[in-house]
Amino acid sequence: MVGFAGFGLLVFYFALFYRPMRLLDRMLANIASEMPEALFFFDAIGRCIWANEPGIQLAEITNEDFESASKRLGELFENLKDYRSDWEVQEVIEDKTSVKYYQLENHTVTDNRGNPAGSFLSIRDNTEDQLALKVEKYNATHDKLTDLYTREHLYERIQEVLTASPDTEYLILFIDVNDFKIINDIFGNAFGDYVLKSIADWIRKVFAENCVFGRLSGDTFGVCIPKVQFNEKYLEYQLAHYIVNDGNAEYQVLIHVGVYEVLESGIDVSVMIDRAHMALSTIKNDYQIHVAHYDEDMRNKVVWEQKISTQVNEALETRQIRPYLQPVVDATGKVVGAEALVRWIHPTEGFLSPALFIPVFEWNGMIAEVDKYMWRSACEILAKWKQEGRNDIFISVNISPKDFYFIDVAEELKRIVSELDVDPARLRIEITETVMMTDIENRMKILSDLRESGFIVEMDDFGSGYSSLNLLKDMPVDVLKIDMGFLYKSKDENRAQTIVHNIIHMSEQLGITSLTEGVEEQVQYQMLSNMGCKYFQGYYFSKPIPVKDFEAFCFKGQV
Ligand code: C2E
Ligand code: CA
Ligand code: CA
Repeated sequence: MVGFAGFGLLVFYFALFYRPMRLLDRMLANIASEMPEALFFFDAIGRCIWANEPGIQLAEITNEDFESASKRLGELFENLKDYRSDWEVQEVIEDKTSVKYYQLENHTVTDNRGNPAGSFLSIRDNTEDQLALKVEKYNATHDKLTDLYTREHLYERIQEVLTASPDTEYLILFIDVNDFKIINDIFGNAFGDYVLKSIADWIRKVFAENCVFGRLSGDTFGVCIPKVQFNEKYLEYQLAHYIVNDGNAEYQVLIHVGVYEVLESGIDVSVMIDRAHMALSTIKNDYQIHVAHYDEDMRNKVVWEQKISTQVNEALETRQIRPYLQPVVDATGKVVGAEALVRWIHPTEGFLSPALFIPVFEWNGMIAEVDKYMWRSACEILAKWKQEGRNDIFISVNISPKDFYFIDVAEELKRIVSELDVDPARLRIEITETVMMTDIENRMKILSDLRESGFIVEMDDFGSGYSSLNLLKDMPVDVLKIDMGFLYKSKDENRAQTIVHNIIHMSEQLGITSLTEGVEEQVQYQMLSNMGCKYFQGYYFSKPIPVKDFEAFCFKGQV
């Protein structure tokens, strides 16, 4: 109660007898004295009339000598402006042993009529904040392990350099450690880290001047270097002898460098890095060559790949992409079937053979769309033939090893034949041995499933790859397509013939039908027939031709 009464009296006294302005002045003066910032008050003509304690200490003046503060401040800070205006500056004072950051803010004060009455300057030592900010910024832009720029920061820095000197010719390098995973696996992660740090040091040394560099990912680095400074011979020499030794283990590290010359302005740094990477990928496992350049061919290849990849759906819809049929004949010369081979009749590029687009689509996964379409097209042809009473001819379709990654091959094939009411035995399935290179058990199951569903499975290109007899032992296939290629390529034709002869013989024994493809001459046909080969395919009989032409070729005399 007593406390409340006292407080009430005080309120009464302040409200009626005390001049509020004086209270305010005192309070402000108190606050100003207590503030941690250095404060200086100036009169209308810019003379210092008062400073608080931190101000006195900063300017090294005495209580009575405020006037000399202006001069002292002028000596201390370079960026001081006129006290009679509002401004804000950041000042760094650096000597050999320390660095200090100050935030200076000047505010003018006017009297009741709006005339300048004076100003006050506050000076805050924000060294701690600034240093913390610097550390934070450094950590955000530098890789922890190697202390090089991070990928994002490197991109920014390269962009800055390119923009700042548009007349200088620059190269972008992509540096990659071959099989870095193996280094980690064999020697352990600590040695792996040691290798990366040593490469970072090497980069710092070799690309010391006028270059920017950074770590792009785990074991890849990027550099931007003026073209005149790039010494390829020296780099090749260095990389040919790049050995890392941490005192315990020694390892010759295979490092490759892809080089892209910045010729176009306005393209993204990430694209430049990609191009340098692309150059590198041409020498990926090469132990002799360590440096490769991005060239026009690579560029054209990418442009081509992008172009056809964006056009593929439309090409399928409008049937620019369509099957050609190459006849398969028996020993009497009668056409027993055909292989469907994809062709792209492009509106501007003209006739495109599969070699120009299949690898691209295998790489980007679009192959599955093309193949599904080819399988369906083959079934449509078979359905049409069935209606016309020609039930005895088969069509073989190709299955890319990549199809298995993107679609359920067996499901898809079963669906198509059932939708179009085609006997699965009429649609033959060509697979290559690469299909069996991965996930072999599962793939075997798929092939068995297909055979159980009535499809005939053919092993394509037998003899061209690493055809393993062991694989053949367990492979659920009905037909071996033997590639004539290895007959032509052989130095000793007799030996090659012996091998082909025995493959034909062996397949017969295994109950597998033999088919030779690539037959170009009558003598070959004769020879293979004599060896017991059942079916033949090749230019000698016909090239792959449009469906209409095939029908004319095959059914003539039969209609
Ligand atoms: P492949 O499956 O081995 O097809 C046989 C290739 O040999 C065809 O080339 C054919 O035109 C060619 N050929 C036929 N007879 C002869 C001959 O007597 N001599 C020579 N030197 N070559 C002959 P094509 O049509 O250029 O196809 C090349 C490859 O493209 C095919 O090789 C196949 O791997 C792939 N391919 C074609 N169509 C498709 C498809 O629809 N899907 C998939 N995934 N791949 C396909
Ligand atoms: Ca084939
Ligand atoms: Ca083939």
